[in-house]
This record gives sequence, C-alpha cells and structure tokens, in this order.
Amino acid sequence: MSYYGSIEAGGTKFVCAVADEELTIVERISLPTTLPEETLANVFDFFDQYELKGLGVGSFGPIDVNVQSATYGYITSTPKKGWRNVDLLGLLKERYAIPIAWTTDVNAAAYGEMHLGAGKQTQSCLYLTVGTGVGGGAVVQGAVLQGFSHPEMGHISVARYPGDTMESVCPYHEQCLEGLAAGPALEKRTGIKGQLLPEDHEAWGVEAFYLAQALMNYTLILSPEKIILGGGVMKQAHLLEKIRRSLEVQLGGYVNVPEEYIVGCGLGDNSGTLGCLLLAKEGV
Ligand code: ADP
Ligand code: ZN
Repeated sequence: MSYYGSIEAGGTKFVCAVADEELTIVERISLPTTLPEETLANVFDFFDQYELKGLGVGSFGPIDVNVQSATYGYITSTPKKGWRNVDLLGLLKERYAIPIAWTTDVNAAAYGEMHLGAGKQTQSCLYLTVGTGVGGGAVVQGAVLQGFSHPEMGHISVARYPGDTMESVCPYHEQCLEGLAAGPALEKRTGIKGQLLPEDHEAWGVEAFYLAQALMNYTLILSPEKIILGGGVMKQAHLLEKIRRSLEVQLGGYVNVPEEYIVGCGLGDNSGTLGCLLLAKEGV
C-alpha cells in the first residue's frame, strides 16, 4: 500500500506523518530540529519505512516558493543556525522520486484549515499563528496565496498601543506585529510567560489590540471569509473574544465582518500536517 507523507518543518521540531488515501494519519512523529544533515537523516529513516506516492512540505522560512527562481525550494535568509540557504526541497527530491508540494508552514496550515477545518464552509480564509513568532498564510478561492514570494504577515508594521514603549523583540523591525505581540513579546512586557499570565492582566488588552489591528489590516486588504487563529498564545480562550471586541472598535463600523469571523483552529495541532497531506494528495 502506498501513502501520502507530510513534513511540517519548524524551527524547533519537524513533524512528519504518513496517511492513507482518506488522509487518516497512520503514523506521526516529532523530531527535534538540529542541523540539516542530522534532522534529514531522521526524516529519511521515518519515511523510508513506507512506500510514498506524494509528499507535502510546509516549512519555516523565509523560503523560496518561486518556481522560476534558481533557489526554488531553498530555505533562504533564516537566522536558524545551519539552515540558511539549504535546498530542503532538492534534498527531499533526491531521496524520493515522487511529486512534492512545497509551501510555508502557515500556508499549509491555512490550506488544511480551509479545506478540512474551521474554514470548511468557505473558499477564502486567513490563518495566523501566534507563538514564538507570528506568521500568516492565506487561501484565496481555494488556492494558497503567493506572489514573487510568500506573505510575511507577522512582520507588518503596527501602531503602538498608547504608552507601550517596550522594545520590539524582532531584530529587524522596531514596531512589527511579531516584535510586539509574539509570545516572547508578551513575556518581555510582563515578565511572565503567557501560559502563566492571569486572565485579567492588562497585558491581554494590549495583546488583543495589536492582534486586532493586524487583523483589521488583513481584512481591509484581503476580505477573507474567515480568520483562523492558532499557536501557543491563542490557547488562551478568553483572548479570542478580546480580539473580536478590539477589532470591532478599531474598524469603527466602517466594515461589518461576518458572524463567526474570528475563530480558533478546527484541526487542533493538526492544521499544518493535514494541510501538507492534502497538498500532497492534490499534487499541488
Ligand atoms: P512554536 O511557535 O515554537 O511552534 P508555540 O506555538 O507553543 O510554539 O509558541 C510558544 C510561545 O507561546 C511561547 O512564547 C509561550 O510562552 C506561548 N504559549 C504557549 N502556550 C501558551 C498558553 N497556553 N497561553 C499563552 N501563551 C502560551
Ligand atoms: Zn519584524
């Protein structure tokens, strides 16, 4: 029997899975991201046990997704040690002579959520993860949105919350969304990890303000049918409602968003894996 494979390549772990024709996951493992050679050896050990007919890869980035480019399939300017300019797709293709779909981790998650999860009733949706970093992907009319490169929604510029003088945690930008609202920013602002921060702490209002401001911009530019939020920080159930309220205030009544517009993940921790598997199945 042959299977579809999925690789969610993250900066801290590689989640690999194989699934049958119905995309029922047969086996799933999580491998630590060390150096490319070592990590890939473990990835190969896992997939070599199976006969694969297609593979979907959602990678941390930035990555080259432009098929016209000489470095298509590479992880490009990442600060992650050992991974800069690694031809990840090429190395996988060398090992497995099968169709391999290649996109960002968040695009894969957006794809999975739109087709199989919280966005199932839609054709266009946006997925944003708020964790160690902030990243977003969009699916428009059923297909992943990419241009000369892939979107970098985590690094859009945001206006500061009045009185917030905390230094951004993004080394590139003084006031980008990731720099002011990723998990490490929340921790820097309060001195407390997000998972331990009390629900009534005022920093949640600041967090909701930044995220809602970004969602307002995405809404005005893309008008997706739904925005799906994931990542560690979004495990705080109360945050979703705070973001919805802040978005309404910030939009100022100019745009009325649909019911159930801002929602949590429908696939739990499997958005990326199922997105990759679906991309593999469709041979995208
Ligand atoms: P990664 O982004 O590395 O894949 P996560 O999505 O879990 O992993 O993000 C980790 C960040 O999210 C950390 O800054 C952590 O403090 C924060 N975080 C994790 N769990 C929670 C939680 N339950 N509530 C709030 N913040 C959390
Ligand atoms: Zn930034």
